[in-house]
Amino acid sequence: MVMSNSLANAVLDLVYPNNCINCKTAILDKDYEFSLCQDCWQSIENNLPPFCSKCGLHLEDIDTRIDLCKDCQKRELYFDKAFSVFAFEGMAKELIHKFKYSNKTMLAKVFAKMIFDFAMNFNIPLDSYDIMLPVPLHSTRLREREYNQCEILARQLQKFFPLELSTKDVKRIKNTKSQITLDKASRWKNVEGVFKTTNEYAFKDKSVLVVDDLMTTGSTASELAKTLKDSGAKTVSVLTIAKAK
Ligand SMILES: [Zn+2]
Ligand SMILES: [Zn+2]
Repeated sequence: MVMSNSLANAVLDLVYPNNCINCKTAILDKDYEFSLCQDCWQSIENNLPPFCSKCGLHLEDIDTRIDLCKDCQKRELYFDKAFSVFAFEGMAKELIHKFKYSNKTMLAKVFAKMIFDFAMNFNIPLDSYDIMLPVPLHSTRLREREYNQCEILARQLQKFFPLELSTKDVKRIKNTKSQITLDKASRWKNVEGVFKTTNEYAFKDKSVLVVDDLMTTGSTASELAKTLKDSGAKTVSVLTIAKAK
């Protein structure tokens, strides 16, 4: 019998409840609290400086006069800055897929620690924000998926950066098509007017750190930042695990 990959993995999860989520090697140290083994952890490549001052992606062509990547030179983004620990490729891409679509929420703990290390290494003052805001899911999507993976990540991040968490002050009022199926141009149109603040005082004069798993064009984060700034937010930055090139 040929088992599908996911079935094989599910069986492995039962046999080795403490196996690495990437390479499936058994993790023998009972006190090791992460679901990614140290070998895999060491082999995953960080997004490295110089960073685009807007989207946070590694700048390929270093031009000291312009610290923006080619995409950010062309478009208007409503958030002030973005930070990403990884480029969306290789193992980082696989892990985010597992986190988003395969209920591997235990990865939130790994990602939070990776974000903390990244912030320490590159002096990113994530503790200076007033509020952390996981990107809200539409209520229908939330019912289907049962959890908002960005909120789970934000709760793990609170262990390192004890910021106030906002989970009820913004609603996603339109259940948009998944951005994955759309080309770059359609993504901007698709997210117009999808967010609404439900508490008019929550963000007034506050610096807000939006938490998302992945930034692709930045259209969703930008639309959310626009909504927050319309509600009086002073600054809006975006923290993601990875940025697509
Ligand atoms: Zn491993
Ligand atoms: Zn950029």
